[in-house]
Amino acid sequence: MMEIGNALPVKLEIQKPKYLNSQLVLVFMKLTFNGAVGMVTGSCYLLETDKDKILIDCGMFQGAKKITRLNYEPFNFDPKSISFLLLTHAHIDHSGLIPKLVKNGFRGKIIATPPTIDLAKIMLKDSAMVNLNDTEHENKRRLREGLPPREPLYTLEHVKKSYRLFHPVDYDSRYTLTNELAMTFHDAGHILGSSIIELSAKEAGKEHKIVFSGDLGQCDTPLLKNPAIIKNADFVLVESTYGNRTHENTSMREELLSNEVKNAFERGGKLMIPSFAVERTQELIYYLHRLDRDGILKENVFLDSPLAIEATEIFNKHMKYFSPQLRKEFPVPFSFRKLKYLRTSIESKKMNRYAKPCIIIAGSGMCTAGRIRHHLKHHLWDPTSTLLFVGYQAEGTLGRIILEGAKTVKMMGIKVAVKAKVKRIESFSSHADLKGLVRWIGTLEKKPKRVFIVHGERDSSKKLEVNLKKAGFRTYIPALGERVVLK
Ligand SMILES: [Zn+2]
Ligand SMILES: [Zn+2]
Repeated sequence: MMEIGNALPVKLEIQKPKYLNSQLVLVFMKLTFNGAVGMVTGSCYLLETDKDKILIDCGMFQGAKKITRLNYEPFNFDPKSISFLLLTHAHIDHSGLIPKLVKNGFRGKIIATPPTIDLAKIMLKDSAMVNLNDTEHENKRRLREGLPPREPLYTLEHVKKSYRLFHPVDYDSRYTLTNELAMTFHDAGHILGSSIIELSAKEAGKEHKIVFSGDLGQCDTPLLKNPAIIKNADFVLVESTYGNRTHENTSMREELLSNEVKNAFERGGKLMIPSFAVERTQELIYYLHRLDRDGILKENVFLDSPLAIEATEIFNKHMKYFSPQLRKEFPVPFSFRKLKYLRTSIESKKMNRYAKPCIIIAGSGMCTAGRIRHHLKHHLWDPTSTLLFVGYQAEGTLGRIILEGAKTVKMMGIKVAVKAKVKRIESFSSHADLKGLVRWIGTLEKKPKRVFIVHGERDSSKKLEVNLKKAGFRTYIPALGERVVLK
């Protein structure tokens, strides 16, 4: 894998820039893939014209150590030279290095939709605290090994500084960046506020379009609108997270969840659901709200995650961004009588003595940190309890180890037997699958000059490429750090 920060990226010329020095070409664009190629995290694309430099996303690398190490490499561009950062959505793998960008001198504008700004603010604050904790922990080890301490990626001060650079732009309203460049956000249907970015570049009176898909959602889900249809583009960057998968039918979610809730309560124990704070948690709350309305949910639901509580409040504030059906169904979908918030750790600890069956939703989604670990410590060994997974469990995480059938696990320095029922519902996903991705690109009226396949592991990107080629598209899977010339 080529390292970020390495001097010479591979160069690919899509078309020879013949008219580079002539008056014919006013805008000569270069696009560099600084992350989210060959993997799903670290989304960051640098677009350069002869006058300006703009970034699309500035995400954190997540997952295995050899990948997260890239977060500590210097950017392979000068943050001071960037005039705009266009943010597709708030997920940390798209926004998480914004404070590092600011720490390194970026003072441009961060353009995002109003809900993305609200969500990014709480997520960046959380990310800084997680990073500070991790660094403290790591430095104890480094000290013991006689190594110098490591500086955290960024601090709360850098997060606060980045807050001041955010500039809201709503969906479907064209925003002028420079004399040559303008952009429009379109709903990507992935999480609240998520966007497809349509970037227009003027060249000798003609307009060219580059479309960044961001993360694309599924069609016909209850909360969000469908990903917007883009009619034309000269270049497209499309994500490929599930380019090699077909999702379970989403209409099964409610029935599957309802069965798990009933079974868990019959066993008389607690139903623990590890969940991602943004979107997955609110989807769960929506379905539990429906079960409550239909008289199926008999016990309380505790949301035990300060980040998820803050996110849920942001969801309640931005109702106009949700699908019209949802607004018709529930004026306030993410709140109901049996849903209780546990804000403080004292409230969370009290749950250990809560005698009745109940549902506990807590982070982190893959059980790698957060309050879910305390609940696992107290209930994983109890055969009346249930642990229900509703999200992806990456290799090596505690969630994956339990899901793969471990009889005991080591966590928080102790051994815990796995006696609880371990269940899983797979149909929750906020990403389009192969069919959805091909369908989205297929709505373009004219084939673009090139489709760049990004944001996916190698196999996923390849499988999507095979399918797009079959449909007559010219495709390219870039390498990490690669720079291409768009003409
Ligand atoms: Zn995302
Ligand atoms: Zn993503």
